[in-house]
Amino acid sequence: MTYDKNNVFAKILRGEIPCEKIYEDKYVLAFYDINPQKKIHALIIPKGEYVDLDDFSSKASEKEISGLIKGISIAAKKVGISNDGYRSLVNIGENGNQEVPHLHFHIFGGEKLGKMVPQS
Ligand code: 5GP
Repeated sequence: MTYDKNNVFAKILRGEIPCEKIYEDKYVLAFYDINPQKKIHALIIPKGEYVDLDDFSSKASEKEISGLIKGISIAAKKVGISNDGYRSLVNIGENGNQEVPHLHFHIFGGEKLGKMVPQS
């Protein structure tokens, strides 16, 4: 899939849309989700233009990849959920229910999160 430069996270990265910033470095930006699903709900995105995890895994540099993984831990610590535990997940593509076509990891915490996938 071609990267859409007009997706909402690209606009946040360019400063065209505001966000409640948690952490930023050369590789990532972490900010609070606009529609939190848990007591704490943050997002972390790479600064590079990657549609999803598969795009990122195949094209990103080792430094970008380690920067994103490290960034998850840093952001969790910054929002104060590291000690009690938290969950990070990434939605990929249509079946994964990915809505924004710029790779993002969700970071949930601040309360008991229950089972990872709701039982149907
Ligand atoms: P997805 O379903 O793609 O994994 O998750 C997209 C997430 O982005 C959703 O949790 C949604 O609430 C969040 N989101 C969508 N638009 C905005 C926005 O403009 N600002 C912020 N902070 N979060 C957004």
